[in-house]
Amino acid sequence: MASDTDFTLSLRRLAAYLACMTLRAKFWETVPLGQMTEAEWEALCDGCGKCCLNKLEDIDTGELLFTRVACRLFDDATCRCSNYAERKTLVPECVVLTPETLDEIAYWMPETCAYRRLHEGRALPRWHPLITGDCHSTHRAGISMLGKTVSEQSLDVEAWEDYPLEEHDQS
Ligand code: SF4
Ligand code: SF4
Repeated sequence: MASDTDFTLSLRRLAAYLACMTLRAKFWETVPLGQMTEAEWEALCDGCGKCCLNKLEDIDTGELLFTRVACRLFDDATCRCSNYAERKTLVPECVVLTPETLDEIAYWMPETCAYRRLHEGRALPRWHPLITGDCHSTHRAGISMLGKTVSEQSLDVEAWEDYPLEEHDQS
């Protein structure tokens, strides 16, 4: 007999499928970021989880160091926010990307981030789920933070620099 969890998962899959049906063909190549539908905007996210990592910024040079130290709400086992709906309440510093905020925030996102790439006039990478048609392709390509983070709850801020993001993860 199907459990409540199975039913919820099925509904989620159905919702994701219906959302996909509304995407225009290769919209990421033809539609400006500010003119995408909500479903298209959401579909751009590759699920890498890197925007949930803490960064250290050199005050003098502005240089950013990405660390593997993740936000307290990040679930390392699923590579997702554990409470996406209430994230802004629970983590006020959580950045919400919109076409309007991209100009200001893009530099703060990882090089691989689809929003940053399109904002800078670059193409989506070959492993992006919209290119591969496989929703797990970011994980398969080793790009995502699945199973690679430590929680900020287990470390003092002074120790963050001991957990730099590896070069490969930023490619
Ligand atoms: S870094 Fe960009 S592509 Fe990756 S999870 Fe965050 S918003 Fe999505
Ligand atoms: S609140 Fe959620 S979406 Fe925001 S940084 Fe933390 S884990 Fe990521």
